[in-house]
Amino acid sequence: MNNEVYDILGVGIGPFNLSLAALSEPLEILKCKFLDNKEEFRWHPELMFSDATMQTSYLKDLVTPVDPTNPYSFLNYLVKKGQLYHFMNTDRKAVTRVEFEDYCRWVSQELGDTLEFNQSVREVTFDGESFHIRGDHSHHQSRHLCIASGPVKNIPTCAQEFLGEDVFHAKSPLLPKADFTGQRVLIVGGGQTGVEVFKNALEEKWGKCESLCLVSGRENLVSLEEGPFTNDIFTPEFVNNFHSLPQKNKDRYTSQLLLASDGNTPEFLDELYRSLYMDRFYHHRFSPYCLCPMRWMEKIEKEESGLLVTVKNLLSGQYERKSFDRIILATGFQTALPQYLEPLLDSIEKDELGRPLICKDYKLQWDNKDHHIYAMNYSRHMHGIADPQTSLMSWRSSVIINSLLGEKVYNTREMEPSFLNFFSHQGFSS
Ligand SMILES: Cc1cc2nc3c(=O)[nH]c(=O)nc-3n(C[C@H](O)[C@H](O)[C@H](O)COP(=O)(O)OP(=O)(O)OC[C@H]3O[C@@H](n4cnc5c(N)ncnc54)[C@H](O)[C@@H]3O)c2cc1C
Repeated sequence: MNNEVYDILGVGIGPFNLSLAALSEPLEILKCKFLDNKEEFRWHPELMFSDATMQTSYLKDLVTPVDPTNPYSFLNYLVKKGQLYHFMNTDRKAVTRVEFEDYCRWVSQELGDTLEFNQSVREVTFDGESFHIRGDHSHHQSRHLCIASGPVKNIPTCAQEFLGEDVFHAKSPLLPKADFTGQRVLIVGGGQTGVEVFKNALEEKWGKCESLCLVSGRENLVSLEEGPFTNDIFTPEFVNNFHSLPQKNKDRYTSQLLLASDGNTPEFLDELYRSLYMDRFYHHRFSPYCLCPMRWMEKIEKEESGLLVTVKNLLSGQYERKSFDRIILATGFQTALPQYLEPLLDSIEKDELGRPLICKDYKLQWDNKDHHIYAMNYSRHMHGIADPQTSLMSWRSSVIINSLLGEKVYNTREMEPSFLNFFSHQGFSS
């Protein structure tokens, strides 16, 4: 056992805890440790397609919106790599996921021993004075905890019993190894992951399939809403005020705004459409395909020649059936507290839907008031649609640091108000 007791230990080193690590580093007063089960920093490697771009500006990186002088900014990464001028000549608003991952890996290497990889956390317990974080061969202690180990895969009930080589979630190590040659492939889900898998499959990333079909419960392949007023709700001011609203109003608003966070990247849809056009009228290379919105997968049956899938056509109300060899579930993620917190679950307060209650400063409400469990990416229901996004990750990290230190190390509040007045108690007045 390592005898050191850290001030805060982060479980998971995705972008969110990496941002916390990067903003904590200049504050030598904080003893931090971050653990991750991967060998090195990787960002959703199963879904790392060369044509995939970030849905968020590179200026909303791990640190810049809070402290542009922090050395772990995306711009400093470019300068240190000697590629700033070349980058500027590419003249883009958004960078690819490949670039963002490489930037994060660079930060993780610069941060050195504060981060430990190959550390799978199995269990967290609390002895009244500190948390004990245990892995297969490790035992760390910390006064506070920050969990950011990612959401869990959402698997449709009718697909549960078929999970394996032929039916799997897109974020699976089976996807990079897959061979679709000569197969009838179904992709379930028309969000960004679904369309990325569809386009890559058409372009024969996994071999030339016999046929390809995408079904989506959405009304169309719909673009991310990203106008300036929509982006004005991805701000600290909005999140701060939103947290205090009645829960049922928050749930309604968040579900209405699904496309501000879960829509398809418009430029990606443009590219997909152009490539379908070029193929239909000129190249004639793609395998037979179909894109089917307004279809809800209801049943999978094993048959001799594959998997018989029944979908409901949500427009006509009719049922439709077709056989496939492979089903890729691009069905998104669900938020659930991680398994390793099991010993503490009963002492964490939850709402009537079983969701954890999370304070404004991202602390889980639990039995102990002096030792905190901060949670990142578990609070869409309380903090709103920005919670799973990278947009406000640096601001959230600074809120957590201020809360931990009990002082305003980073400015998290004094910002110019939005052009939209959602919250003023003085009604319409300016
Ligand atoms: C393909 C994809 C693309 C996305 N693109 C964008 C985008 O462009 N813009 C945007 O705003 N949002 C995007 N998101 C949403 C969100 O920003 C990301 O999911 C982001 O990675 C969340 O960061 P995180 O740090 O919470 O979790 P993750 O990145 O999921 O990292 C969690 C880490 O914890 C590790 N871990 C899990 N369990 C344990 C354990 N028991 N012990 C140790 N380590 C553990 C995991 O291996 C992983 O490394 C995207 C999501 C996906 C899936």
